[in-house]
Amino acid sequence: MKIAMLARNPELYTHRRLKEAAEERGHELDIIDTLRCYMNIASRRPSIYYKGEKLTGYDAVIPRIGASVTFYGTAVLRQFEMMGVFPLNESVAIGRSRDKLRSMQLLARDGIGLPVTTFAHDAKQTEEVLKLAGGAPLVIKLLEGTQGLGVVLADTDRSAKSVIEAFRATNTNILIQEFIKEAGGTDIRAIVIGGKVVAAMKRTGAEGEFRSNLHRGGSAELIRLSAEERATAVRAAKSMGLNACGVDMLRANHGPVVMEVNSSPGLEGVEKATGKDIAGMMIAYLEKAIAKGTTKTRGK
Ligand code: ADP
Ligand code: GLU
Repeated sequence: MKIAMLARNPELYTHRRLKEAAEERGHELDIIDTLRCYMNIASRRPSIYYKGEKLTGYDAVIPRIGASVTFYGTAVLRQFEMMGVFPLNESVAIGRSRDKLRSMQLLARDGIGLPVTTFAHDAKQTEEVLKLAGGAPLVIKLLEGTQGLGVVLADTDRSAKSVIEAFRATNTNILIQEFIKEAGGTDIRAIVIGGKVVAAMKRTGAEGEFRSNLHRGGSAELIRLSAEERATAVRAAKSMGLNACGVDMLRANHGPVVMEVNSSPGLEGVEKATGKDIAGMMIAYLEKAIAKGTTKTRGK
């Protein structure tokens, strides 16, 4: 296969690993800087240019589109899809998963366990929204946050109210969520590829930190998931329409609840914690999927 990987930084662990894994399996993989692609949206002849050359002959594309370039990145990916190049994850699914509110609505529709989550536009409803979420302690999240930045724990209704007011003043959208205390500062990331959980790790936050993101100083270890946790992760990936993703869950008293589904999961933590060749599994998925020719949306 000839594979294009849309990524900004070729030096990142995950990007190096995907290139290595593709080459080990006898494929060619070109890293293409998403933001330096330009497109011709010509009728029936969609094309993409990069460094003065027209991109042709690719069988598959691996989108590694960072949250900050979602708009342009999904447009470039859509162009590849229209050219008939098979994407590891489709542009539509990536767009869906980048919007936390939209994701939670889709997961809820499919009956997947979620923390109680409320959302409102108008500041006048703050008191009612706090009540609806079950009152303090509450987690308040910026809709556009990543890597744990923009996630705040408020211990009292009063502090929740002032955090909400502060966020509102900056005109950002926020979710207000029940705090799953029993998770004890840990969460679970399951990697789902082609409808199966292929690896899972438990992440634990640094001392005194309720957020378990590795970027926030958390640590990762291998974990065995329960059957219910596996099923939840697989269903969440399916709801989002993602072929390869990271599903973040919390262990609540009443079972697993999904916080987020990540379309470009970082592989360093999970490969090191599990000793598994997840990059290789992603390439293997492409090998099989391309043979079947099963792109669902072709950018629509
Ligand atoms: P981001 O997308 O920025 O990583 P998350 O929603 O995943 O934000 O939250 C970051 C971390 O905060 C999670 O990994 C988890 O450890 C913790 N966390 C988030 N929401 C809750 C919650 N409702 N209850 C308990 N802990 C939470
Ligand atoms: N690589 C980060 C993670 O897996 C997030 C990347 C993204 O924004 O999709 O936690």
